[in-house]
Amino acid sequence: MKTFIELELSTPLLQAIEELGFLEPMPVQEQVIPLMLNNAQDIIALAQTGSGKTAAFGLPLIQETDLSKNKTQALILCPTRELCLQISNALTDYSMYIPDLHIVPVYGGTSINEQIKLLQKGAHIIVATPGRLIDLIERKAVKLQNVKRVILDEADEMLNMGFVESIDNILASLPENHTTLLFSATMPSEIARLTKTYMMEPLEITIGEKNTGAENVKHVYYSIAGRDKYLALKRIADFYPDIYGIVFCRTRKDTQNIADKLIQDGYNAEALHGDLSQNQREYIMQKFRIRNIQLLVATDVAARGIDVQDLTHVINFDLPEEKDVYIHRSGRTGRAGKAGVSISLVSPKEQRLLKDTEKRVGKSFIQTRIPGGKEVCEKQLFHLINKIETVEINETEIAPFLPVLYKKLDWFEKEELIKRLVSVEFNRFLEYYKEAVDLNQGNGDKKRKERTERSSSAPSDGRFTKLYLNIGKMDGLSPSDLMEMINEQVPETKFDIGEISIQKKFTVFEIENKGVQKLLSAFEDTYIDERPLVLKLDGDQPSDGKKRTGGKKGGDYHSKRDDSRRRDGGHRDSGHRDRGNKGGGRKDGGHSHRDSRKSDSYSSGKRRKDR
Ligand code: AMP
Repeated sequence: MKTFIELELSTPLLQAIEELGFLEPMPVQEQVIPLMLNNAQDIIALAQTGSGKTAAFGLPLIQETDLSKNKTQALILCPTRELCLQISNALTDYSMYIPDLHIVPVYGGTSINEQIKLLQKGAHIIVATPGRLIDLIERKAVKLQNVKRVILDEADEMLNMGFVESIDNILASLPENHTTLLFSATMPSEIARLTKTYMMEPLEITIGEKNTGAENVKHVYYSIAGRDKYLALKRIADFYPDIYGIVFCRTRKDTQNIADKLIQDGYNAEALHGDLSQNQREYIMQKFRIRNIQLLVATDVAARGIDVQDLTHVINFDLPEEKDVYIHRSGRTGRAGKAGVSISLVSPKEQRLLKDTEKRVGKSFIQTRIPGGKEVCEKQLFHLINKIETVEINETEIAPFLPVLYKKLDWFEKEELIKRLVSVEFNRFLEYYKEAVDLNQGNGDKKRKERTERSSSAPSDGRFTKLYLNIGKMDGLSPSDLMEMINEQVPETKFDIGEISIQKKFTVFEIENKGVQKLLSAFEDTYIDERPLVLKLDGDQPSDGKKRTGGKKGGDYHSKRDDSRRRDGGHRDSGHRDRGNKGGGRKDGGHSHRDSRKSDSYSSGKRRKDR
């Protein structure tokens, strides 16, 4: 905990806050004051009323003000007259030893002329409600061209009160070279839009202790061998069939690898990291927002722009080293009064980091056992039963089939019918988990068996052949894209896909031997735009794939695809969602092809066959 002196506040401010009885900075002040004083970065701060945020932005604003210039240098926007006066009074208190500073509050419901008179005398800092400020701008009573800092206080409240248009107009009228600090208790999508439009690479801060998010978050951890983390992640996904969360990884590479593996194993996941283009990132975030993705595997930086409210879980695949990163991560769940869980997968090496993190958060994390196979199966069974209980029946569509169905199933007793119905889904879990081992740290080598036998990336066992495809990351290809392409080309045939390795310019993937010829033939004369797709047996290619890629560098593969996906309003993805919602853990690691859905819109938007 720093002192106000260490935060490098000026003497008149230190004297004032001492008189006001502020002994030490509150957490929001400790974070925001140095950021504002030392750099000109845009900031988003998730903080509640009463957290001390007025002083957090007010003290640096006052310190920064150049009193030799009689110009408006800072603008504070807030939702109500009361808050406007409260902020203005607080700033007046903080500047009690800086008599030349002029702070002018302007708000609706009172004479505008009085306010114009005050403004004419000069206002270094204006505190305003948006509607009144627009009036004043229209009357040319305020000049904002010298504004260097804008504070949006209680931004979510301002939007709730219908100020969105006014805020847009105000922000659009400000000079380029200002920075914005946005305070909000929640982060609805309209705020995310504002931040995207008007802020440059904002730094996001979540105020731990005072944030309701943090209060509603349960922090748990699993003690686990580093090499078993992926298996544990799958268990978690299977144990919480309705999971909707972010899996945080340290590096872009880990992020991509883990997402790739999850997709191959039939989970409803995607990666989000800085190697993706802006378009790709936005597309994935949008899919996540509308819940077409259940698990987003992300780096901390890439996840900053996500404004999702009701995550059920945050999973720390690795604990972060950097101060506060854990608080930001876990603050993404448990928002808006909802309960959330932050799960950390902690290897023996990370035990010390766990202790440090607990200290930073100010709470002990609860050690929890990784669920065993039996528990996962039980959970999945009841999830299935719940779905059966609550599924909506389309009476009209199903009616014509019912007589035949009734007749066909007529000879089953009710109990037998239930067993069969449930087994359709449930058998997969039983099969996968029948020899499931205990992944909890310190439970012997038994666990190695599951890892090697059931890992999604189990090495080829002679059942598979490696194929080479001349598109890769540069073309925006992801494992799920590849699965879709294969499904499109050979929709009627079922075979397994093994390991997928997507490189910069090409991809090598394993396919069950019986599907090789079919797929090779299906890919003949196939194009992405003007570029021929080359699918071959892997082996004789140069490893960088240079000779094979012919055609355009970068390609229009992904942008076309994005367009076609957007056109169909995301319906196409509901197939994925269903797939994920069936629950994650699959024995059929390489069966995701079988599970994937065919998509017509994709093929028509992306390539032509038989040209
Ligand atoms: P705010 O979130 O700005 O509305 O502040 C909440 C209350 O905390 C106000 O009454 C402030 O005067 C008070 N306050 C702000 N900072 C401190 C501090 N460092 N120490 C004690 N009280 C403070």
